Amino acid sequence: MDLPESIDFSALGQKWALDYQPSSLSRIQLSEQGFMLTVTGGMGDKEQVRQALLAWVKKKGRQHLKPWLADVAQDMGLSYGSVAIRLQKRRWGSCSAKRNINLNAGLLFLPDFLVRHVLIHELTHLKHLNHSPAFWQDVKRFDTNYKENRKLLQQYGLKLPMWLHQSFDDNLHK
Ligand SMILES: [Zn+2]
Repeated sequence: MDLPESIDFSALGQKWALDYQPSSLSRIQLSEQGFMLTVTGGMGDKEQVRQALLAWVKKKGRQHLKPWLADVAQDMGLSYGSVAIRLQKRRWGSCSAKRNINLNAGLLFLPDFLVRHVLIHELTHLKHLNHSPAFWQDVKRFDTNYKENRKLLQQYGLKLPMWLHQSFDDNLHK
């Protein structure tokens, strides 16, 4: 596995090119210009570079997923507590009994209609904290293709870029 040459946020229609600029700085610095992300710093420790990219992906998640969730919630006439953006391996999102929603920044790598599908799913949990028939009926009101989308989502989960979830440190131990 190598560091990525580009980062494709399908959900946003953005493809970022990466430009690695090795320098004597030990800290990794990222700077954006257009859709070019320049990574400057010591490249010796790939895991450190990867961590900087993950932090950037999470920042993009906060920037884009939070307002997106707010829009969909408004369409659905629902209100929630706080939103947290994480990078998780197993879940696209979750909703707690306290009405707080977690979203996976990995959603940015999916087509936009699947992001909407996940947002509708989690927001519907504000009304039903289960997957009862009543839950699915409410999902269907806003996501008529939810069954198909659910299947597609599983397939896309397997196609996420490897560097998102596989640390370079783990590689050393193999
Ligand atoms: Zn659920």
